Amino acid sequence: MEIRTIGVIGAGQMGGGIAQVAAHLGGYNVIMNDISKEFVDKGMAALSKNLDRLVAKGTLSTGQKSQVIGRIVGSASLEDMAGADFVIEAATERVDIKKLLFEKLDKVCPAGVILASNTSSISITKIASFTQRPDRIIGMHFMNPVPVMKLLEIIRGLATSDETFKTTINLGANMGKIPQGCADAPGFVLNRLLIPMINEAVYLLNENVSSVEEIDAMMKLGANHPMGPLALGDLIGLDTCLAIMEVLCQGYADSKYRPCPLLKKYVDAGYLGRKSGRGFYRYDS
Ligand code: NAD
Repeated sequence: MEIRTIGVIGAGQMGGGIAQVAAHLGGYNVIMNDISKEFVDKGMAALSKNLDRLVAKGTLSTGQKSQVIGRIVGSASLEDMAGADFVIEAATERVDIKKLLFEKLDKVCPAGVILASNTSSISITKIASFTQRPDRIIGMHFMNPVPVMKLLEIIRGLATSDETFKTTINLGANMGKIPQGCADAPGFVLNRLLIPMINEAVYLLNENVSSVEEIDAMMKLGANHPMGPLALGDLIGLDTCLAIMEVLCQGYADSKYRPCPLLKKYVDAGYLGRKSGRGFYRYDS
């Protein structure tokens, strides 16, 4: 099946970015869906602002920006996904929400259509079980911010077919990404490496081995990381880091993934990182 129109579910941080790269770099038509017109409009406004930055940098002309925007239509009804050749779900990270969505998408979308999920932590095999097309369910894990980050993790559920895998890899490459495949496992690959590193940095801090600034400086100077692990945790969101550690800890039933008590304490205090103005660093100003 030729893919011309991509359905994106969720017009939030990730969905907006996915719609942007699909329409801009991929040249696809996009149907961007959310639960209400208000959310769709908010997503469209954020997307337009992102494109304005590219115009200001000179990487996109105003005419090209209009063309990109012209390829995206908003939708507040899931029924509109009947017109999509490939669907990427990027709605809120809750199993109950994804279950309802995939059950409905399975009914609305033609049988040959692949349904991908951008989930960070929910099993792709489990999502596939909500549908009658487990061979056409796959994980497409974009990184944040989507227009900037090159990696796209492509996750095969237990029943994902080779054809679905190949089609999704090609689609991701057309959207300007460098797709890398992996099997379905808690945390997939990137978060299984990255989040325990951040958690370990929080343990170092908790044990007074070193200070926030020194821990971050060591990873920047000694491992050539562009950003220290604690600053990165603040950027990702400490609540998100904790949620992923809990997924790893439960998924592998292994104490090596035990979330650091200090990470829990920060989340309980509402110190969630940049988004709340305070994490390991302060962002008040
Ligand atoms: P977000 O809160 O910014 O956006 C989620 C959007 O989904 C909201 O606009 C919400 O209204 C919408 N939504 C909720 N229920 C819906 C429904 N039934 N139908 C249509 N839309 C619905 O969240 P986000 O950060 O964009 O995360 C979205 C997904 O991407 C999650 O699965 C998350 O795990 C994954 N993800 C997030 C990041 C990240 O860094 N934020 C990175 C990779 C993957």
